[in-house]
Amino acid sequence: DSLEQPAYLSKLNDGQRAAVLHGDGAVCGPLLIIAGAGSGKTNTLAHRVAHLIVRGADPRRILLMTFSRRAATEMTKRVERIAAEVMKDKAASLMEGLTWAGTFHSIGARLLRDYALEIGLEPSFTIHDREDSADLMNLVRHELGFSETENRFPTKGTCLSIYSRAVNSQDALEKVVGDNFPWCVGWAEELKRLFGAYVEAKQRQNILDYDDLLLYWAQMAGEAEIAAHLASRFDHILVDEYQDTNRLQASILTAIKPGGEGLTVVGDDAQSIYSFRAAEVRNILDFPALFPSPAEIVTLDRNYRSTDAILNAANAVIGEASERFTKNLWTERCSLEKPAIVTVRDEAEQASYICDEVLKERETGTPLKQQSVLFRASHHSGPLEVELTRRNIPFVKFGGLKFLDAAHVKDVLAVLRFVQNPRDRISGFRVMQLLPGIGPAAASQAIDSMETSLDLEMGLARFAPPARAARDWPQFVELFCDLRRSPGWPAEMERARLWYEPHLERNHEDATVRRADLLQLEQIASGYPSRDRFLTELTLDPPSATSDEAGPPHLDEDYLILSTIHSAKGQEWTKVFVLNVVDGCIPIDLSAGERKELEEERRLLYVAMTRAKDSLHLVTPQRFYTSGQAARGDRHVYASRTRFIPSHILQHFHLTSWASKALRDDQSARPRASVDLKGKMRSMWK
Ligand code: ATP
Ligand code: MG
Repeated sequence: DSLEQPAYLSKLNDGQRAAVLHGDGAVCGPLLIIAGAGSGKTNTLAHRVAHLIVRGADPRRILLMTFSRRAATEMTKRVERIAAEVMKDKAASLMEGLTWAGTFHSIGARLLRDYALEIGLEPSFTIHDREDSADLMNLVRHELGFSETENRFPTKGTCLSIYSRAVNSQDALEKVVGDNFPWCVGWAEELKRLFGAYVEAKQRQNILDYDDLLLYWAQMAGEAEIAAHLASRFDHILVDEYQDTNRLQASILTAIKPGGEGLTVVGDDAQSIYSFRAAEVRNILDFPALFPSPAEIVTLDRNYRSTDAILNAANAVIGEASERFTKNLWTERCSLEKPAIVTVRDEAEQASYICDEVLKERETGTPLKQQSVLFRASHHSGPLEVELTRRNIPFVKFGGLKFLDAAHVKDVLAVLRFVQNPRDRISGFRVMQLLPGIGPAAASQAIDSMETSLDLEMGLARFAPPARAARDWPQFVELFCDLRRSPGWPAEMERARLWYEPHLERNHEDATVRRADLLQLEQIASGYPSRDRFLTELTLDPPSATSDEAGPPHLDEDYLILSTIHSAKGQEWTKVFVLNVVDGCIPIDLSAGERKELEEERRLLYVAMTRAKDSLHLVTPQRFYTSGQAARGDRHVYASRTRFIPSHILQHFHLTSWASKALRDDQSARPRASVDLKGKMRSMWK
């Protein structure tokens, strides 16, 4: 190659550079980067994309798939920064072409809309999130008479999980149920009928659920003509976090690029943590052999993220794993500060401990944004959230209760979705029942009236609502007709909100706070080009924080990150706290002691630990609150340190315990008085 090497290449190590330069300038075969946490995989991927563009690749023909929308946005920004070193101002405008960056699901949604007519879909399909899908599953379940109370048929949630697992793993229903839901094997026949009816209901209503986005995509890519068209559309396909893809996703890639040309996948088998969504760690291990000419493999073993003390501890934890491909990492970042295992009395104390520490760190120069608190399950952060709020420490929570799960936000979105696709019954039901006097029966009749009428709007207008709804119904019809004629985006959003306001006030006490959420939703909406893109992307990858009274933190403000470990994938912070590092939380369920599941919990702890750059605190409360099986009820249990840190690896940790100041002072500060106030009250009336 006669071109001079750009400067950004010299900042990479040899392995990274080899990966970036793989096939430099020419059509290239498949590439696999498989390496441990913090070894620069994502960074290398960003450099590879930038380098491809610098060398003349068309950004519009690059497909980049990451694990969240946030990761995709960060990646595109990073690509632009790198490319700007060489291309200067030209980089920014070129990067506007890099629009095919997102999650598998969001890319699938876009492509399906694009090819809808070729594959017999209507382009106006709406996408159901998990909750809507469960509702529809429930509806179908009742229609078939498989009621859960009488005969202990699996719940709607279980039905949906089984369905989803079968779709994503591409396994036969019997196998999925036998392997993962053994208590449901007696229902295999009914489940099959249920799923058949569920699929029909979705098709009738012009709905796709999350799984359909992959399933239809995979099916579509299996059609030779469409596959060829897709293949010719993208010169390069790059995937980060490949260890967490499932078989369906792998089949999409191989269908589009059977020879693996221009295909790059990146991942770490030791960080595979999504098997409950049928992720298949074999995907990454089997990747090299998938193609006629085997993939080039790049491994990286230097970690740039963490100090040696943290890395040694993390290596020790994952070293106990039964099976793994990636090797131990090394680092040049030295530190005497071993990761701490901090014992506290209970979760309340855990919360005060973290608040104290976080503030102390901020004072010594680590902003809140460079600190994070990670936990196994979303509800584990409850007590901490209360304490943070009490002390006015701003925080944002990832992977928890989503903004879009809030009832009022869902209401407004249901309006838009119903307008987009009037056959979507779940949305229709939701919207109509906001009107006083309209219940499920009336809503159902109204939708029937629309369906049997040639003209949707006419059908809706013709419906005679119950007397109590007579006043509100015409306004609803007017809203529907207005929005169908689309006043433009995001003006529609405002129109829907204004219509909704009186209902908001009637249905919710804290209307002021909720109104702020809706204004924020409008703000978010204005960032999207159309109703369609807005609904799609929001359903697939919703923003996480709801506003509290103080409103959501602005992006330039400093705030602490709270995140489930699953959602913390790929990220890093200077200081990391992990909550509840005790048996029963990590691993989460001791009764499900299946070897495979336990191994995944170990990897989860490894993912959590390797997020830390300089400082890592694993907190172990001696008592914690658990919501056990329904029969046993909620209770406090005594806990012990996680089994993933057995005593022979304790040498890698600094052991300490902590008691809150309030508690320590408690005894001495208490007044010695003993007053009979009740007696005093009584004597006042004597
Ligand atoms: P994970 O497995 O957690 O996703 P990763 O392998 O994707 O990690 P990155 O997030 O890409 O790792 O990189 C980890 C850190 O190391 C980042 O802060 C990155 O900027 C830094 N880094 C990566 N490569 C180099 C390098 N060659 N020189 C200096 N710093 C680097
Ligand atoms: Mg990464």
